[in-house]
Amino acid sequence: MRTTNWMVTAALLVSLSAAAQQAANSQSPAPASAPDASQGSQSSQQTAAAQPAPAPASQPADVQSAPVAQPLPAPAPAPTTMEDVVNLFIQHEHGLIKMLANRTPIVETYLQNLTLDPQLGPVPSEDHYFLGRMDMGETIDRKDYLKEEEKSMQQRLMGGFQRLYKVQYQPLGFSWMVYADRTDFDRNHYEFRYVRREFLGDVRCLVFDVTPKKDAGRGRFLGRLWVEDQGYNIVRLNGTYYPAPRNSYFFHMDSWRLNLIPGYWVPSFIYSEEGDFSAGAKNKMAFKAQTRIWGYDLKRGNKDDELTQIRVDSVTDETPANQDASPLQAERVWQQQAEDNVVERLVGGGLLAPEGDVDRILQTVVNNLEVTNNIDLPRPVRTRVLLTSPLETFSVGNTIVISRGLVDVLPDEASLAAVLAHELAHIVLGHNLGSKYAFNDRMLFSDDTTYQNLGFRHIPEEEEAADKKALELLKNSPYAQKLENVGLFLKALQARAPALGALLTTHLGNPFASNGTVTRLAALATQGPALDNTKLDQIAALPLGGRVKVNPWDDKAEMVKTAPVAITSARDKMPFEVTPFFPRLSRYGAGAPTAAAPTTTAAAPNPSTPGSN
Ligand SMILES: [Zn+2]
Repeated sequence: MRTTNWMVTAALLVSLSAAAQQAANSQSPAPASAPDASQGSQSSQQTAAAQPAPAPASQPADVQSAPVAQPLPAPAPAPTTMEDVVNLFIQHEHGLIKMLANRTPIVETYLQNLTLDPQLGPVPSEDHYFLGRMDMGETIDRKDYLKEEEKSMQQRLMGGFQRLYKVQYQPLGFSWMVYADRTDFDRNHYEFRYVRREFLGDVRCLVFDVTPKKDAGRGRFLGRLWVEDQGYNIVRLNGTYYPAPRNSYFFHMDSWRLNLIPGYWVPSFIYSEEGDFSAGAKNKMAFKAQTRIWGYDLKRGNKDDELTQIRVDSVTDETPANQDASPLQAERVWQQQAEDNVVERLVGGGLLAPEGDVDRILQTVVNNLEVTNNIDLPRPVRTRVLLTSPLETFSVGNTIVISRGLVDVLPDEASLAAVLAHELAHIVLGHNLGSKYAFNDRMLFSDDTTYQNLGFRHIPEEEEAADKKALELLKNSPYAQKLENVGLFLKALQARAPALGALLTTHLGNPFASNGTVTRLAALATQGPALDNTKLDQIAALPLGGRVKVNPWDDKAEMVKTAPVAITSARDKMPFEVTPFFPRLSRYGAGAPTAAAPTTTAAAPNPSTPGSN
């Protein structure tokens, strides 16, 4: 392994960086190539072979003779040695940490403990869910949205690796790999060894193995980095921390960044997995977990901002000129004001996607139900996407909200229509909740108390009535002939419900199940064929992450475009399960819609890179 024992001055780093940036700007973009879906251990042979071997490291003497404290040099060639590249990505990592220091994105971790099923392989046995705001300043910190349990979670975890990774899952631990090393990512603490070049999506990367130096201390990054070859920013980290303190355990993580703003690659997805199901394996801990980060562009959720965040919209006056509002009109305007307040507040808190493409698809399904049932409401029904994973729907006024996780796992349009029909039924039946939110003082709360301040749960009688009405709406709709698929989905959900308590725990609306038994749309659950894992063409439910992708910077949601990949065994189905992330990387502004994302199974399409802007 090459030793890197020379020092450079900060001034030199700055000038090198400027030169590299200018050189990079003058280059044409890297050619697109077939995505390399291999994990780190497998090489993208043809791209690696096409590149010249890295030049030898420059000598310390050269470095020290370089001009110091001079104005930035004229455009110069891109870094010529791997040593230069290492300096650049170290410097850019520190730049990223600084740029994100005043951000407080949302961080969500969904974890499934695994047990071995002889037919299906590792399957979920129980699950855990964490949602919070992460303060990316000097001390990485978080505020949890879910107060019921784990409230005593350490608020200050900086330097506290020893406490992070105990078997009791610490939510912040799963997002720790947003950076390789927050405080000491430098040549004094690490050795960097160039491995090869490799494409991740459209982006050509230089791959480095990173090992902590002998006396670097505990909890240092050990693993592999992918560095894009134009701006020299880290785009993926894969590995763990080492050495672990006594009585604690470091998870393995695969951490991905996206080029969502010019010049920066922003931490977006982290996949964690542990578990060995080979015969005779001793460590019984087994889980897989997805951590998603979004809401980078949200205002900080602190008290000072609350009053300025709330904008009191003037209510649109829809009455004809020179007429006073009738009592019924006043009631409707009032309800709309409540609805608008709630939608705006949820967007501001990073829980609801801004209006976008997915809404239009949902809207089409709702329209299909309305038109065929001759439903004519005084105001149009709107649809919006909740950005979280737990399976839930709710409605406020005429707005139907459905969670990202639920859209992900629904196998077809008929199943989507069924869950939307339940909420449309509430609206048609006049089960309006939430008019109290027309009072703006009720919107004045900090983001992390959203779940304490908002709620849209109906009484059991209204739930029953909505299910009954939903069935009626569906039977009159274009989905009438496909209700067997809905039955199949509900059966699959029932089969997994006892193990997926966290995924089925709703935070704003009514749950789909209570005590492990699916109650939503129960009349449809008896329809359709029996659930049969051995039938490879029977896809009752999809894995999480397969349909909706969220831009972590601006929270916009769009549909994932994936190419179908054949399912070859029952283990490929993975209903309701988490899978590794493999986003299709592309550079900011590369804009054009991306091709199909690489996936390993049809049932496991992964989120791909959000588009530019
Ligand atoms: Zn309901």
